[in-house]
Amino acid sequence: MADIHVRCPKCKWEPDGKPHWACTCGTVWDTFSTAGRCPGCGKIWKDTQCVINAGGCTAWSPHLDWYDGLDEIIERLKEEIKEGWLQEVPART
Ligand SMILES: [Zn+2]
Ligand SMILES: [Zn+2]
Repeated sequence: MADIHVRCPKCKWEPDGKPHWACTCGTVWDTFSTAGRCPGCGKIWKDTQCVINAGGCTAWSPHLDWYDGLDEIIERLKEEIKEGWLQEVPART
């Protein structure tokens, strides 16, 4: 994962690993730790908003557009994420 960068496609802001994203269910988390899937309700956010409070902008961009790096690695990562999005949300225990 060393060659992958995550940054806003619009302003180049890089997520700092903090929980900046809030779901409609009330969960607040780091959307890049779950590839856009809310850990609370399982909703998939295919668009991700930049975080102006942390130095970014207010633009929404497709989640996959945030990933930048070597093309081959990025394409593989995007495929993995898309496959994950197709899977059913596991029942919570
Ligand atoms: Zn949620
Ligand atoms: Zn931005």
